[in-house]
Amino acid sequence: MATFQVDTPLPHIPDDLTIPQFILREIGGRPVRPRDIPFFIEDATGRKVSYEEVHARTLGLANALSLRWDIGHGDVVCLISPNHVDYMPTIWAVHTLGGIVTPSNPSYNIEELVYQLRTTNAKLIVAHPLCLGAATAAAKTVGLSPTSIISLGREQGSYVTLEELIPFGASRAENYKAIRLRRGEAQTKLAFLCLSSGTTGKPKAVVISHYCVIANVIQMATHYRVNDPSYSRCRIRPGDTAMAVLPMFHIYGLVVNVHTSLFCGMAVLVVPKFNFQSFLENIVKYKVTHLHLVPPQILLLCKQPIVKKYDLSHVRYCMSGAAPLGGELMKQVSKILCNASIGQGYGMTETCTTISAFDGSSKMGRIGSAGRLMPGLVAKVVKGDGNLASEGEEGELWVKGPSMSLRYLNNPDATAETFVDGWVRTGDEVIIKDHEVYVVDRLKEIMKVRGFQVAPAELEAHILLHADVADVCVVGVPDEYSGEVPLAYVVPSAKALRAMGKNALRQAKFKQAVIKHVADAKVNYKHLTGGVELIGSIPKNPSGKILRRVLRARAKENRPPI
Ligand code: AMP
Repeated sequence: MATFQVDTPLPHIPDDLTIPQFILREIGGRPVRPRDIPFFIEDATGRKVSYEEVHARTLGLANALSLRWDIGHGDVVCLISPNHVDYMPTIWAVHTLGGIVTPSNPSYNIEELVYQLRTTNAKLIVAHPLCLGAATAAAKTVGLSPTSIISLGREQGSYVTLEELIPFGASRAENYKAIRLRRGEAQTKLAFLCLSSGTTGKPKAVVISHYCVIANVIQMATHYRVNDPSYSRCRIRPGDTAMAVLPMFHIYGLVVNVHTSLFCGMAVLVVPKFNFQSFLENIVKYKVTHLHLVPPQILLLCKQPIVKKYDLSHVRYCMSGAAPLGGELMKQVSKILCNASIGQGYGMTETCTTISAFDGSSKMGRIGSAGRLMPGLVAKVVKGDGNLASEGEEGELWVKGPSMSLRYLNNPDATAETFVDGWVRTGDEVIIKDHEVYVVDRLKEIMKVRGFQVAPAELEAHILLHADVADVCVVGVPDEYSGEVPLAYVVPSAKALRAMGKNALRQAKFKQAVIKHVADAKVNYKHLTGGVELIGSIPKNPSGKILRRVLRARAKENRPPI
């Protein structure tokens, strides 16, 4: 068999709607949200935000952004915030004007923010009060004035806030013409620029259209059979509650956890920060039915004795995604979430999320399986020799379908490597069997630390800035909680080498200095938790490319199994 595809028919995907039109409008054929079911619930206060309120806030803000900053077609707005009930209204306000959102990690340091602002050419920043310091410094570096920063909170010093802007916009005559797309236009109308490193190199801005997101939401809803009254095993009912504890800036949180849940008529419980005890309390307090998690959170559910104190019986569906979940953990968590169907989802930013997912039709997904292919998606598995794999054979997964992201922004070389004739190269080694995807290895450079991408090239470029480092290679080493963590093989400069000699204490000091150099500039999951190893030279091929596999194997050999 050359390609793999499930035979579930995909309903029509609207190609003339923006994301807010798709989510906020009562379009035909969608699951009906019961009247009393809010869009969002704020976890700390229990405040419910109704559809009407979300709608009004979105349009009020859109008007204010148009009046005060003239945001319109193609303007990029950077959103830097932990999860918040105004996160989506902010996105949808920008979309309503034809603008593009680049969502950023709220824990980013200044240097990381500067990189994102430059890569995406953002002209306005909406930042949570906790992120205003970094946002202001980053804005200054890229030449944006402080008046280009909006605070997502209430009163916040000299910054204009969303709380002022929304009533301001709502009280003025409409200054903008909400965009109306022609048939087919949603496919090329840009909605998001999300950072991802792809198969190699530093993070790049992935170009995502409105249609990509709408298509993946419809694929997921079709996969779960949410609109099929004849199907009794569907795990989703309008009125259910999904917890949004995954960060909304990441594609898994953005598309699967939030947009898909909202489309399916669920309320979304908005949690800004993961804290295990509050997580358990929230499940009980809000009778959460749906969990979208990453493997470290599943590990905590399995290992922390405190779990036994909580009644988690309301949970009916739990997806683990963003990184592989071991079979043993899946079995254990299936017992802990006694009424839930548990399985994996698998996807990537470049495919505008889900490639395969567990559909919830049984108590547990198949061990090792990252779920069944999405309807409407075509997959092929390319073996090392370039031939296509048959069912059960290993190779690199390439996929094609309506949700595929379009390209990398301003990066034709990286685009040509990953987006090939309508196919997206995943850089993942898989086996496909019965339309289920088994991810067996990662061929690409990136590491996944607690579900977050870490690009070795980004860390290497930074470590090379250290005066005492001559060369470096960063690889991932297995870690029980985080999945993997970065380890740097460092070649000290000749001067540093002379100063250290074989003195163990000086070598330890040198390693600590490299670790600190990274910790001072990067968000915590990029820190060198795997340590620093000194090495004489970095193995390279004749054209100078790092032979990362050699050092990966060496790192594995030198570690006790976890
Ligand atoms: P991102 O673009 O940050 O979502 O990262 C995408 C990558 O995460 C994929 O290409 C995989 O390498 C990895 N990934 C996501 N989900 C899974 C899963 N269920 N099992 C194994 N790897 C996964």
